[in-house]
Amino acid sequence: MDGFSTLYMEKLEALKGLYRGLEHEDEMVGYLPHCTFNLNPRAASIDTPLHAYVPKKHVDHMHPDAIIAIAASKNSRELTQQIFGTDIGWLPWKRPGFELGLWLSKFCAENPNARGLILESHGLFTWGDTAKEAYETTIEIINKAIAWFETTNTTPAFGGAVKPVLPAEQRRAVAQKLMPVIRGMISADERKLGHFDDSQPVLDFVTSKNLAPLAALGTSCPDHFLRTKICPLVIDFDPANPDIDKTLAGLEAAIAEYRAGYAAYYERCKRDNSPAMRDPNAVVYLIPGVGMITFAKDKATARISGEFYVNAINVMRGASGVSTYVGLPEQEAFDIEYWLLEEAKLQRMPKPKMLAGKIALVTGGAGGIGKATANRLMQGRRLRRARRYR
Ligand SMILES: [Zn+2]
Repeated sequence: MDGFSTLYMEKLEALKGLYRGLEHEDEMVGYLPHCTFNLNPRAASIDTPLHAYVPKKHVDHMHPDAIIAIAASKNSRELTQQIFGTDIGWLPWKRPGFELGLWLSKFCAENPNARGLILESHGLFTWGDTAKEAYETTIEIINKAIAWFETTNTTPAFGGAVKPVLPAEQRRAVAQKLMPVIRGMISADERKLGHFDDSQPVLDFVTSKNLAPLAALGTSCPDHFLRTKICPLVIDFDPANPDIDKTLAGLEAAIAEYRAGYAAYYERCKRDNSPAMRDPNAVVYLIPGVGMITFAKDKATARISGEFYVNAINVMRGASGVSTYVGLPEQEAFDIEYWLLEEAKLQRMPKPKMLAGKIALVTGGAGGIGKATANRLMQGRRLRRARRYR
């Protein structure tokens, strides 16, 4: 069980007696190390109460697109009942902390026959007496949701396409023009690398009628928007009349406006003990008819942020196809993004490596020394990757 924390269940149960209420739920995390079994130094996840207080041996927790699409629909409770009956329960949105753990515990006591539940705006919990049973329930429930969407969601995605998709070559050419310019504008405090995605789900979204209003609603699942920021920046570009110079000329103002909007969100929502405002630049840039560019401190993080935004696109597609899509209330989103426990996690991250976020230009790459230098740089990258996946 390398990589997992191990805790005494009796001690975890006893923590319920120390709980002073929602206002103090964060302090419960400090008690988790006192429940450690066998001196295992692996820190317990802040999700621990969610898993521990479900009175079953095996508990799965996932964020599948089809389930979040139900969870982020305006009538998610009715949809859950309609699709799963009493088999799968439903709980309203609550930040994943100690209080939500108690809600799960209460739900299981009151609904002994349920095999899982959907958390509004968040995801899925399933359980069973064996790992296999919990796993099979998870797969079954996800497949049921997917099948339900396939027969129910027959409207054109995002209100239908209203803009053309540029041919692949032109899409790349536009991205090539934009990426270095955006990178220059957002790398003042921390250098960043970009990732371009023009896969079909992205193209469906960035050519659609409802692109701007849906993008402005923000993502819902907390596990997604910690990577993507709550909202993307939609770049002013018309694929019907492509004028990249006009887009480039307006970029500085658009990025400044996004930053100002982010700072205003921080000011509106901050609390007395909130951490200082983090980088106010967008992570996700959507270009109508072209695709999506994501920026982060290194290439892998930029790619993963893009993947999470594709999840968000799938969620919006499902939810807005069968109901009204609802993002998280702003204050809830802020309280997750600037949660002191998340801040502690960020503080524990290792300092970036010397070349992180930088792009190396090797001249004379065809010759001996230049080629060896390029190979060496690429090798460093490969070695790091191999180490990570070991
Ligand atoms: Zn979760």
